Amino acid sequence: MALKGQVAIVTGGAKGIGYAIAQRFLQDGAKVVIADIDEKAGTAAEKSLAEWGEVRAAVCNVADRLHVHNLLAMALGEFGDVDILVNNAGIVHKADFLDLEESAFDRVMSVNLKGSFLCGQAVARHLVEKVKAGGEPGSIINMSSVNAVFALPDQVAYSISKGGISQLTKVMALSLAPYGIRVNAIGPGSIMTDLLKAVASDKAATKKILSRTPLGRIGEPEEIAGVAAFLASKDASYVTGQTIYADGGRLG
Ligand code: NAD
Repeated sequence: MALKGQVAIVTGGAKGIGYAIAQRFLQDGAKVVIADIDEKAGTAAEKSLAEWGEVRAAVCNVADRLHVHNLLAMALGEFGDVDILVNNAGIVHKADFLDLEESAFDRVMSVNLKGSFLCGQAVARHLVEKVKAGGEPGSIINMSSVNAVFALPDQVAYSISKGGISQLTKVMALSLAPYGIRVNAIGPGSIMTDLLKAVASDKAATKKILSRTPLGRIGEPEEIAGVAAFLASKDASYVTGQTIYADGGRLG
């Protein structure tokens, strides 16, 4: 029960990697708020996750400051505190550089990058106040990607946003270190979720992924949840500003 007594917000927690993280955190003893723009999926996730512990679903668009404000208020109202934030909500848009439309660029940036900034700042302000009042610091985890390092020419906006997440993680870690608040990121490789299916649906795409993945298989959401559980726990008490890649050994 490494997270016993902790309260976590997991954005994009209704499906995929976020859902697996919420489940793992509940199994590790945390109370969890899953914040997702998809109300129906959030309600269904809340119901199925309830067998593992105390969980609440909040409808939230992470790119909207008011939604984020309401999310934090809801979490504090329901559970009295927030210790952990996982900035996991993310979207992908398939387009190369010459074809990418401004509206798609803005959409991807607003969810992946601005959303992580808004949620990160709101929760960090709460954590800083808590530390000043003598409380425990807590930690923040951002969801990056191997695409932060290996640019994919058909996912231009996504790659740029994830590169930004790595740098956001470093500046947040530096800003919050004086308070003992740790900020890290996870860089997943190809993980079996709806998001992956949206960009790699056919056999040729799967073959390409496997050819660049030394472990020779696509990852499971639970394998990212394990990394998140480590980063949120006391076992990672001296780890901050890092991106941990969980990508089946991808080196190029
Ligand atoms: P997913 O599409 O399965 O789930 C994403 C969830 O985020 C959904 O429940 C969706 O409703 C929610 N969401 C989307 N926009 C939102 C918004 N504006 N506000 C709140 N919630 C919103 O995707 P996933 O594969 O589980 O991805 C989760 C994270 O992991 C993303 O940040 C993604 O970029 C990252 N990632 C995924 C992979 C992969 O291969 N699946 C690889 C690297 C990084």
